[in-house]
Parts: sequence; structure tokens; C-alpha cells
Amino acid sequence: MNTSTPTVSSGDKLKHFTLSMIAEYTQYNIADLNLSCHFENDLGIDSVSLVEILAEINQRLNLSTPLSASGIHTIEDVITIVSQYADEGTLELSGAESSQSLPSPCVAARFIRDQVCATFALHSGYTESDLDLDAEYESDLGIDSVTFTVAIADLLKAFQLGTTTVIPTCKTLSEIVQFFERTVQQERGDNWENNITPESTAGLVDTYIDKAKQSMTSNSSLSLDDDPRTMRDFVGTRHPDLFQKAKEFKTFYSQKKANNLYWYGMPLESVCTNKAVIFDEVAGKSREFLMFGSNSYLGLSNHPKVIQAIQDAAKSYGATNTGCRLIAGSNVLHLELERKLAQLKGREDCIVYPSGYSANLGAISALTTKHDLVFTDAINHMSIQDGCKLAGAQRKIYSHSLNDLEKALARYADHPGGKLIVTDGVFSMHGDIVDLPRLVKLANHYGARVLVDDAHSTGVLGKTGSGTSEHFNMKGEVDLELGTMSKALSGLGGFVCGDADVIEYLRFYSHSYVFAATIPAHVAAGVIASIDIMLQEPERLEKLWDNIYYFRTKLLQVGFNLEHSDSAIIPIVVGDDQVTLAFGRAVRARNMFCQTVVFPGVSVGDARLRISITSEHTRDDLDQAFEILVESAQEVGVEITV
Ligand code: PMP
Repeated sequence: MNTSTPTVSSGDKLKHFTLSMIAEYTQYNIADLNLSCHFENDLGIDSVSLVEILAEINQRLNLSTPLSASGIHTIEDVITIVSQYADEGTLELSGAESSQSLPSPCVAARFIRDQVCATFALHSGYTESDLDLDAEYESDLGIDSVTFTVAIADLLKAFQLGTTTVIPTCKTLSEIVQFFERTVQQERGDNWENNITPESTAGLVDTYIDKAKQSMTSNSSLSLDDDPRTMRDFVGTRHPDLFQKAKEFKTFYSQKKANNLYWYGMPLESVCTNKAVIFDEVAGKSREFLMFGSNSYLGLSNHPKVIQAIQDAAKSYGATNTGCRLIAGSNVLHLELERKLAQLKGREDCIVYPSGYSANLGAISALTTKHDLVFTDAINHMSIQDGCKLAGAQRKIYSHSLNDLEKALARYADHPGGKLIVTDGVFSMHGDIVDLPRLVKLANHYGARVLVDDAHSTGVLGKTGSGTSEHFNMKGEVDLELGTMSKALSGLGGFVCGDADVIEYLRFYSHSYVFAATIPAHVAAGVIASIDIMLQEPERLEKLWDNIYYFRTKLLQVGFNLEHSDSAIIPIVVGDDQVTLAFGRAVRARNMFCQTVVFPGVSVGDARLRISITSEHTRDDLDQAFEILVESAQEVGVEITV
């Protein structure tokens, strides 16, 4: 933190330094640490971790006598032992005195700054001492838009500012602090600042949060069509009862559902082709819909040969595997599937995971640690973001632009650890395609490895449907190509293709592979059949693209905002949550089904309908869908040009 630093005693410095070291190492909030905390009993820090903390202190202070863990049980014990070896000069050298929040002349300003730090630390997993206020929160600190909006929502509540308060574009946490300083001052006047004393600030944020909670609970009687809350409002809330948020969400969700605005998880009662029968739980009846929410892009999920292959394999190998892949869970069909996928992608080897989600978690966390940097697009799929978190790697999030990626790579060109760039091939909620040639060029220039998630490109992009690298004539030029088998390949499971040695490593170090059972053999059989059919019947891919061009052109002609979609995913961008939910409801009322995407699928303010095109749609389906979308847009006020 950047603060002015009045005179502080060396004892205070030492205490402060020790607390921040422990906070930094353990991820505890510094405010939660006090001198009497027992490492094991209170903090759950075992003896191995304690030795590591002492070694770190040792190194930072450059002490000639190594600190010993013997007899150390509490934080106070550490301070006592450090004070025997470290003099004030050593502490100055270590920079310890300036790294934390020492009293500043303006109590209110300090209070605001501390709350911003504490809130961002809470949601981002950083310790407060690691949050550099002047760093760019996205590209330097890797704080994504979801985390950002949750933290801001908390701060608005804490400072009792309305949820509609407009947040200016800020790049750094310092700018956010300044914004809150200005706004709180404007709202409350100077008296507010004068009333704050160091003693009273300690409990203030809790008071604010309690008040915000009370107002949230009292809001629950609102007719929820007027309820301005979004799903974001139920994330990261603080309450002594962990289930409190579930209770609040239940009221919110059941109202949305009753009003036909949230239509998630309604069960299908038929096969899913260009049409599907869905049980409408609100109306209590079955209804047939034009289906524009299926990711079976090539229409293979009901292909007779795929179904036959599944039935045959179930007869031969039973209902499931009896363990994870390394321990009796591997079937010959898994190996055949891995060979087939590697061949499809033109790579040496392939590893199959239980799902696409677990493929991202497993691969990213196996390859990177906290010493490495992962450069990840702000709109990459959640499984990529979660994979980075699991790895503990330092995330560098670039806005959805390779210019930004280039800047981030240049900024960290000298980073001594490894670098991985991860990107969706086709962005799952936006439908555009990554500029792979440029991305790979940047990676080569800056010595980074590349992982492309081809979940929505496999079966869609490239002459044979093998994915993004084929689309750009770059087969074999990407380090790792990941995919899911739950979309065009009409099965279940995820995979990663790459060089044989890297794939072999993943087989032993991806926890989501080693410690989880994988897809049953009959699912592998179905996917093998799907790949064969995809290659034998190229007319499916042609039909898919005919449909995409036809439908996209019609939508563009009437002025729908489709962003830069160039795939089977066509978003209709609306922005506002409430309008989008009403749009989705109007579309469903006319018996067309597509996804309504709000937070956390996209950030708040970027809501949209998401339409998936498949090769099974007929011209008539597309024409009907077009009419429905136009009528619905006019009904709810989505701007178009007819
Ligand atoms: N990556 C992307 C880009 C996706 O869209 C998805 C699924 N929505 C996944 C990974 C996860 O795949 P799966 O459903 O097989 O877990």
C-alpha cells in the first residue's frame, strides 16, 4: 500500500513485518491475525509450513543465524525470536516498514483505502500486503471481471451507496479508492470524515454490511420483476450462517422462475434435434420447442450408428468403469478414442478426461504453479479461469484483445518462471474466433506455451472439422489443443492433444485425471463413432455452415447486435439483465428455445440470448426462429431496424 509513513517505533515495524509475512504466506487476512494466535490450533499452520515461513523471513531479512522452529507456537513467539536477530536497519532494508497500512493523516481516506484492500483481498485470494494499489488490477493482478464486480458490489454495500452507482472505468485499485473517497464525501459531507476515529473504524464495515444485509432481506418482499438484483448479489456475501445466502437466493430464484424469467434446467422429454419436447415446470405441461440451445452441432447425438456403437459397447463392457484410469479404469476403447482424437488433431498423443471442465482444471494445474504466469483472455470459459485458480498460477488477464495480450507479455518478458497463454478457440458466449496466427506468433516471440480450448471449434472449424488450428492451416503449431466430447462429438468427456511427453506427464500430474473415474467405455464407443461419421459425411459440416451464414445474415440485416460471431454460436447482445430475461421469456412464449445468458455466464451489463445453430436445422426452422426473434425484440424493446 502507498501511504505516508509517520514515525513508527521499531517494535511496531517488527510486529507489522511479521504479521504481514505470515498473512502473505498463509493467505489469512492480516486483520484476523493477532499476537496470541497459535499456529496449529488457531491458524491450522502445520510444522512444515511454519518452517517454510521462518525460512522466508530468514531470507527477506538476510539473517546470518537461521531461525529455528523449536519452541515456536504463537505469532508472538516469532516476533520474539526475530527481534533477537533483526535490528531496525535490517527491517528498513527489507522494505518491511512501507509495505503495510500505517496510519495516514486522513483517517477517512485510510479507512476507505483499507476497506477497498480488504474487500479485494477477500475476493481475489491476495493478501492485503500483496495488493499493489497502483498495479492494473486485471492485467497485473489477474483480478477478473467477475471478482471485480463482486468486490465492488460489496464495497457499495459497505459504504451504503446505491447499487445503481455508476463506477467509472478504473484500471487500478488506487483509482477505485479515489472514486470511493470522492463519492462517499459527496454523499455524506465532511462530517462523516470528522466522525471517524481509529477506534470506531474497526467495526464500521461490518456495520455497513449488516445494514446492507438487512436492506437486502427487507427487499425480499419486492415483486421480483422489479427486483434489481442479479445472481451476482448472492456471491461472496458475508454471514455467520453459510446457508443464509442460499435462503436469500431461493426467494429470488423462485420468484424469477414463477415469473417465467429464469428457465434453467427444465427437463427434456424427447430426443434433442431441431425440435425438442420440454416439460414446462411453471405451466406444468409438456411443450414442443424449436431447439436453438443444443451444442450437437453436427446432429450426431441421435445418429443410429452412434447409438448402436454405445449399445454394443455397453453389452461388451458393462455400465461403467470400476475405477480411475490409472487403476483398472482404462478400457481398450479409451485407448482407441485417444488415438483417434490425436489423429484428428494431427498430434502425437491425447489424454481423455472425465469432462471438458476437468480437462482445463487438470492440464493447467498440472503444468503451472505460483511461479508461473498464465495469460488468459477475460472472456475465456470458467473452467480455464478455475484451472488457473487451482494451479495458484499468477493470472494475467488481458481484455478480449491481442493488443492487450502483447502488452502484458512485453511487461512480463523477463519473468523467470514459465508462461502459458490460454484461449478459447471459439469464445463460448460470444461466438468469435481467436486470431490464432497472431497469438502463436506472440507466444513464440515471448517464449510462452499455448493452450487452445476447442470446445466449440471441434466439429465446427476447419475443412474436416478438427478445430481452430485446421481453420488457420496451423495444424501441429499449437502446443496443446483441448476439447470436449459433449458438443459436436455427441458424448461426454474432455481431452487434451499434444506432444507425447507432455501428454504422458499430464497422465500422472492432472489430479482431475488421476483421482477421478472417467467416461464409461460405451461413451467412448459413441464418440469414436461420431468422429468416424464426421469424417465420412462432410456434408454435415457444409450444411452447418450454410445454416450459420443464412441465419446470421438475416439477423444482421435487421440490426441485431451479434458482436463478431463467426461460428455456430450466435449471440444476440442486449446488455441489461431485465430486458434480456424478458426477451428470453417472449421467445419461449413463442415456442423457441435458446439460452438466456446472464452473470456469471457473462459479466453484469453484457447479458444476451445465445443461439446455437446445428446441421439439423431446416430453412423453415431458421425462418420461423427469425420471425420469433424479431417479434419478441419488438415486444420487449430490443432495438432493431424493422
Ligand atoms: N470449455 C469451453 C469453452 C466450454 O464451452 C465448455 C462447456 N460449456 C467446457 C470447456 C467444459 O466442457 P464440459 O461440458 O465437457 O465439461
